[in-house]
Amino acid sequence: MFETLGNRLQGVFDRLRGRGALSEADVSDALREVRVALLEADVALSVVKDITARVRERAVGQEVIRSIQPGQQVIKIVNDALVEALGGNDPGPRGISLEAAAPVAILMVGLQGSGKTTTSGKIALRLKGRERKKVLLASLDVHRPAAQLQLAQLAERAEVTSLPIIAGQTPLQIAERAMDLGRRELYDVVILDTAGRLSIDEALMAEVAAVKQAVTPHETLLVVDAMTGQDAVNTARIFNERVGVTGIVMTRVDGDARGGAALSMRAVTGAPIKLLGAGEKLDALEDFHPDRIANRILGMGDIVSLVERAAETIDQAEAEKLAARMQKGQFSLEDYAQQLKQIGKMGGMSGLMGMLPGVAKVKAQLQDANLDTGMLKRQAAIIGSMTVKERRQPEIIKASRKRRIAAGSGASVQEVNRLLKQFEDMRDMMKRMNKMGQKGMMRGGLA
Ligand code: GDP
Repeated sequence: MFETLGNRLQGVFDRLRGRGALSEADVSDALREVRVALLEADVALSVVKDITARVRERAVGQEVIRSIQPGQQVIKIVNDALVEALGGNDPGPRGISLEAAAPVAILMVGLQGSGKTTTSGKIALRLKGRERKKVLLASLDVHRPAAQLQLAQLAERAEVTSLPIIAGQTPLQIAERAMDLGRRELYDVVILDTAGRLSIDEALMAEVAAVKQAVTPHETLLVVDAMTGQDAVNTARIFNERVGVTGIVMTRVDGDARGGAALSMRAVTGAPIKLLGAGEKLDALEDFHPDRIANRILGMGDIVSLVERAAETIDQAEAEKLAARMQKGQFSLEDYAQQLKQIGKMGGMSGLMGMLPGVAKVKAQLQDANLDTGMLKRQAAIIGSMTVKERRQPEIIKASRKRRIAAGSGASVQEVNRLLKQFEDMRDMMKRMNKMGQKGMMRGGLA
């Protein structure tokens, strides 16, 4: 799943990238596309509104990391909003909790065909293998004759025990018998697979609620089919209201489901997604990582980590000083050299073309020059051969000084010229940005 949403958003951000600075209109345009992409991916409207509002608020209000292209920072902001919508800021452990007295009961609930029985087998296999737990599987489905047999077969494949089938028992009786056996034979975990229905009805809810009351399970996991989109979200909402769930397992994420259900799930139900089912095989069970899912949705992990790296690498105090000098129109070749050094620290130029403030125009030239890390070093060497006075007042660098600097740094006079030209372009750009800033159009660089 997630392919469609990822592709849609990719298009939006392709358009955003490569711009030097974003106007408020740019942000609004981008957000309109983000909204459409999310709605098409079947994300609930309320969640879409929430995500776009959060992005807008931050894009406009947040202090901009000075050395990043605004478009890149918007991508990071969208990413963070997605992670939050997916429950990324929840404290506590993900996955299934076994922090209770043994035998720990796990109640599996959901609609028929959601993958509930398969998931019960998957969880049993995982707990047995990874956690070395002694697991008992029991099917409470007395409505479909084949259901109990199906679970028994799954148990065999997972090499765990299943509760012996006794015909004619009620779900409650089976549940109690399972817990009893669990206690007597010192099982760590008892997984109770309840009956499903094709759609939600009161009888099903009452049955599940009664079992839950009787065994007070430590986890009540709702299994939903990602392919059913918004229906899965509604199912989850109703199950949660009626019986209360501690977590959600989303199945068939290996299919071409639109990713929206995952995004809505947390916000609409309040219950966290704990696991993902990604195939029919018993080992096709994945932990749910909001950041990884957001990355899969956006497909922009490289840029997100770039922005994170920049935020870490760039010395904010240094950036403040630089900004103050820029404000006064005092950007010097020393500052330029400082920025080259920062870029070097961040791992060279590839993918980092937009790192310098106001670089849009210069960028094309830099690309023409096919700038790489070697080039960075040469530029730094050229600046290194200048006197302090030359660095602070590049206007005084005329032909004879250029020859001296070139000789001193092992560069050609053309290279010195190119560097000076780039620096001038950048300084002009900054002056213009400053003027705009004073008119209040560029607050934070994004608004
Ligand atoms: P239940 O009625 O909710 O117990 O559903 P089942 O566990 O019987 O699953 C119904 C069908 O979905 C079976 O054919 C499973 O193999 C299949 N299934 C379950 N989980 C997944 C999954 O994560 N991915 C895929 N592709 N198929 C799944």
